[in-house]
Amino acid sequence: MANRSPAIKHTQLFINNQFVDSVSGKKFSTINPATGEKIIDIAEGDKADVDRAVVAARAAFRRGSPWRSMDASARGKLIAKLASLIERDIGHLANLESLDNGKPYEDSIFDINCAIDTFRYYAGWADKIHGNTIPSDGNFFSYTRKEPVGVVGQIIPWNYPILMLAWKWGPALAAGCTMVLKPAEQTPLTALYVASLSKEAGFPDGVINVVPGYGPTAGAAIASHRDINKVAFTGSTVVGHLIMEAAAKSNLKRVSLELGGKSPLVVCNDVDVDEAVEIAHTAIFANHGQNCCAGSRTFVQEDIYEEFVKKATDKAARRKVGDPFADGTEQGPQIDDEMFNKVLNLIESGKKEGAKLECGGQRHGTKGYFIQPTVFSNVKDSMRIAKEEIFGPVQSIIKFKTLEEVIERANNTTYGLAAGIITKNIDTALVFANAVEAGSVWVNCYDAVVPQAPFGGFKQSGTGRELGEDSLKEYLEVKTVTIKIPVKN
Ligand code: NAP
Ligand code: MG
Repeated sequence: MANRSPAIKHTQLFINNQFVDSVSGKKFSTINPATGEKIIDIAEGDKADVDRAVVAARAAFRRGSPWRSMDASARGKLIAKLASLIERDIGHLANLESLDNGKPYEDSIFDINCAIDTFRYYAGWADKIHGNTIPSDGNFFSYTRKEPVGVVGQIIPWNYPILMLAWKWGPALAAGCTMVLKPAEQTPLTALYVASLSKEAGFPDGVINVVPGYGPTAGAAIASHRDINKVAFTGSTVVGHLIMEAAAKSNLKRVSLELGGKSPLVVCNDVDVDEAVEIAHTAIFANHGQNCCAGSRTFVQEDIYEEFVKKATDKAARRKVGDPFADGTEQGPQIDDEMFNKVLNLIESGKKEGAKLECGGQRHGTKGYFIQPTVFSNVKDSMRIAKEEIFGPVQSIIKFKTLEEVIERANNTTYGLAAGIITKNIDTALVFANAVEAGSVWVNCYDAVVPQAPFGGFKQSGTGRELGEDSLKEYLEVKTVTIKIPVKN
């Protein structure tokens, strides 16, 4: 049941299966974006706390530790247990998520179900990770072992707090790693609650550690730590550069990055326009536009352009914006004042550069960080709203003539996270899917992200993959063992 005042049990750092204060004793406030008011103070971790957490994670990773000596199937059962505990407390977690992040309660329930599915998917992997036997030249028998990479640092954003945690913890736990996670400063509440569930599930001390704090202090300490073997980051491309640089300058830890995007969604002349409008609407407005793979460049072919713009505008103007805890709310507030101002500035740039504002364009209400669903038509590729990641509820509708032309324009970006096409012609879909530079391509759908299939970016949208079997590789070392055999058979 939606409840805007859930009990908040955990506000301290979670290190070695204990909730503890930060070394400095400092705290920071987490804010309710629907009101701009403080929810509660949270212990603020920094370098000293990351160091403490890494010591715990390293001890948990030591040879002979309960975690390292556990059967792989038992590891899988623990992950499955965590999934069941999250399911048991889904209502409470959804309340915490909606309070801290501002997304509608039903959206939080959806995200948490996706997190549960992700944990269950990786629970199944734990005892199915194995190497090969190799037909080596000479009198040798060679085999490979897939071993956990070690202590991993994980830095996650605020747009899908619990889901990003599951994308990081699922494969890391299945692989047998130990971890130190820094949630986003805006949204620490669900990570701390799930940490308490991990203890209840029975994970040994030190396997899972959560250190809330700020990026330039706690986050940077993770990225540059000399005893962390791998860092997994989701967030902005700007910070992605810093993470890779810190890894290079410290200990060459492995890096996986899931960064931003400016993903094209191409709508062809041959479609059912009403259906296409629905897909394109959700592609951009889901999660208030705060979605790394948002379909933020809506390319529409010329014959249906006028009709599409009219219907897309009607649809956006009807979107229900407001209280995340009220029935039927489709869109809550943006995450904080910084993002709120960034989105409004980009809307202003669209108006100045000559795009046509079809609807929205203003703040919604007088408190909190709500923005009206906004649609621009007559958008040109050179405009900032067509080039920069807005991360807000702003649809930019761009006209195109031919498939070849739109492929070229779709690829004319430094990003490459996702792309979509809506068409009834299989040839058109296949040509586009092969040619577009993006880690995920959706045909006649959008944002169909599932635990079983890999997700990640081309170009500056990132490196490495999350989800699916591919994500496990990010958390595994391959060891080759070669044994001399006396005689060749
Ligand atoms: P961000 O700064 O990249 O934040 C993501 C995570 O990185 C947060 O946990 C953040 O900590 C941490 N961080 C920040 N600076 C760091 C540093 N120097 N070293 C290590 N970690 C650091 O993203 P943002 O400022 O929240 O959002 C800005 C833009 O990023 C958005 O407009 C959007 O374009 C993009 N973004 C993308 C995604 C995605 O899913 N790919 C998600 C969120 C944002 P703090 O908690 O202190 O910020
Ligand atoms: Mg908050």
